Amino acid sequence: MIRVKRAAKYGFCSGVRVASLKSRKFAATGRSAAILGQVVHNERVVEEMEGLGLRTATSLDDITESTVVFSAHGVPPSYHRRARDRGLEVLDTTCKFVYDIHHEARDAAAGGAHLVFMGDPAHREVVGYTHDLPAGSYHIVRGVEDARVVEWGAYPSIRVFYQTTLNAEDFEEAVRWIEAANPSTRRADTICYATKENQEAARALAGDPEVDVVLVVGGKLSANTLHLWEITSALKPSHLIQGAEDLRPEWFADARCVGLTAGASTPDAVVTEVEQAVQEMAVG
Ligand code: SF4
Repeated sequence: MIRVKRAAKYGFCSGVRVASLKSRKFAATGRSAAILGQVVHNERVVEEMEGLGLRTATSLDDITESTVVFSAHGVPPSYHRRARDRGLEVLDTTCKFVYDIHHEARDAAAGGAHLVFMGDPAHREVVGYTHDLPAGSYHIVRGVEDARVVEWGAYPSIRVFYQTTLNAEDFEEAVRWIEAANPSTRRADTICYATKENQEAARALAGDPEVDVVLVVGGKLSANTLHLWEITSALKPSHLIQGAEDLRPEWFADARCVGLTAGASTPDAVVTEVEQAVQEMAVG
């Protein structure tokens, strides 16, 4: 018999819950809308939205519906004007923590700071922060290699922002490098509470001596799910899966206790399906 132990904190965050709720309420009105990019990075949620009539679009120019939904990741501020210019109504589900970074970055830039965004330049949240900024007013740093090639001392002051779902430890060396090169560097504490709680709980789960193997459930495009997997796999054999269909019996051959956690965009129902499938495997 395999025991399944869930992390003390995992899965849906408040931002994703609100985005999902707003989208469902809109769908219930029967009006047409397209979501710009995945509403959250979870294929199951995206399929569900499409079932409700909310198509996923890749560009504002492709939208023929009357309303565009901006996802929890947020968009560049100019997209609101572009949507209005195209005659589209906007359903904005941007997470409040993402808006906090937009506002803090705008204020820091107005105060003369050079902006640094830690994260992946292709991540939609990071695109939202940087797309409208003048070239030369910011850098996006993916790690210490990026940090080493910039003359940070040339800027009067620097403000560092983290994309909300990063694992801060991965960027510590890069931020320290910038701070050493420019003492007028200040960090903004922008990793969101849900990410921190999920990461701490995942670390505790993987460090639990009873747990033999860890399953991390989430979408394949979900950065926060990937970071959870990075944390657990440093401590225990860990597998990143989208759902029960990805489970392999050989992972549990010698396991007595399986740890289970999930990214911020993973519905609770998917976590429960995985738990049941693991237990059925043990019986089978
Ligand atoms: S992970 Fe954090 S920032 Fe992202 S939607 Fe959830 S609460 Fe908001």
